[in-house]
Amino acid sequence: MDQAVGAGPRSAALFDRARAVIPGGVNSPVRAMGAIGRDPIFVERGDGAELIDADGGRYIDWVQSWGPLIAGHARPEVVEAVSSAARRGTSYGAPTQAEVELAEEIVRRVPSAEIVRMTSSGTEATMSALRLARAATGRDAVLKFAGGYHGHVDGLLADAGSGLATQGIPASPGVTTAQAADTVVARWNDRRAVEEAIEQRDLAAIVCEPCPANMGVVPAEAGFLEWLRGAANASGALLVFDEVISGFRVGPGGVQERAGVMPDITVLGKVIGGGLPAAAYAGRADVMERIAPAGDVYQAGTLSGNPLATAAGLASLRLLDSEAYARLDRTTERLATGLQDAARETGVAVQVPRITGLLTVFFSADPVRELSGAQRCDLQAHAAFCRALLDRGVYPPPSQFEAWFPSLAHGDDHVDTTVEAAREAFAEL
Ligand SMILES: *Cc1c(COP(=O)(O)O)cnc(C)c1O
Repeated sequence: MDQAVGAGPRSAALFDRARAVIPGGVNSPVRAMGAIGRDPIFVERGDGAELIDADGGRYIDWVQSWGPLIAGHARPEVVEAVSSAARRGTSYGAPTQAEVELAEEIVRRVPSAEIVRMTSSGTEATMSALRLARAATGRDAVLKFAGGYHGHVDGLLADAGSGLATQGIPASPGVTTAQAADTVVARWNDRRAVEEAIEQRDLAAIVCEPCPANMGVVPAEAGFLEWLRGAANASGALLVFDEVISGFRVGPGGVQERAGVMPDITVLGKVIGGGLPAAAYAGRADVMERIAPAGDVYQAGTLSGNPLATAAGLASLRLLDSEAYARLDRTTERLATGLQDAARETGVAVQVPRITGLLTVFFSADPVRELSGAQRCDLQAHAAFCRALLDRGVYPPPSQFEAWFPSLAHGDDHVDTTVEAAREAFAEL
């Protein structure tokens, strides 16, 4: 593997041009790398577990497009499925067999999914799931958790994680008071906060990432998801699991299958598009049948279920058998343990929570239970750590409030090289 050359002259020149015509030079904020105090790296191409930048530098990529690329960059089966679909036309605005197959595949894997509607982004799917929950319950308010990110849906930006956590914007300008007023925010893993919200408002939905990964990875504490299910039932709210990141990643049926807790509606994205724009919401038949044209709740999309995204999604899901999950779990475990040990040996206090296919290196002496714990991390140290990794040809998520995304393309050598680079990076702090 060649050494990375950092953001070289080509990346720098592209960033100058980009800033003249694109807000901040990027089409999604976290890519700018502002949170780790450097300029973005412009990508030339991806190759399995690796990225090659515009200056020819090579990096072991632990971002993998923020989750969709569970099989790594340009996996031949996925590329072939997409090219062969493209030769037959890129969109028809009419149904296809492949959409039926993808929906069947989702229903087969995700335990609470009986009926599925495709969209083109996770944002769209979450927004549509909330409209459905409001229609089904006749109520307006929704409960979300601080640090939970559900796309840039207006009403859900309050205390969102991800890019917003980095930038410390509590909610965005442009979100109306009315939209924000229908969102109640509770602390993650805090039963009393949920009870208080339920006392205050008649909730249409309790929406959560069942294993939050957008404030960094902060799993539910034992019994919390089961308790949430009970609280939703008692209050008449629907339970919505946003499994856009965790779906098809932590296991075939997502967190709901691992925890044995069934939501009423599940939001899916990322892996189901295999690197192309696709997402979905799925759930109990009686609720999902409210969606038009089966029912009266309107939702539509010109490119929903389009043939390219459907082909990429199906090809990716077909790679995800039990052997694949065992491999992904082992890679995650080796990486998490290696990073934790390297930190300990160099005297740096970190927490490395993990679940199959996801981990975060929190620069914190204490375990992180909820958003404010993540916000108390040593962000300066994290930023320096990320810059030092990039200098050594390792591309980590450039924000403390994001997850690392191990993939099937990462092998033991990638993990070992990364851990070695991390040891040097920790030692430099
Ligand atoms: C990425 C993400 C979304 C938004 O999906 P987009 O496709 O970026 O709109 C929603 N929820 C969660 C949990 C996510 O991680």
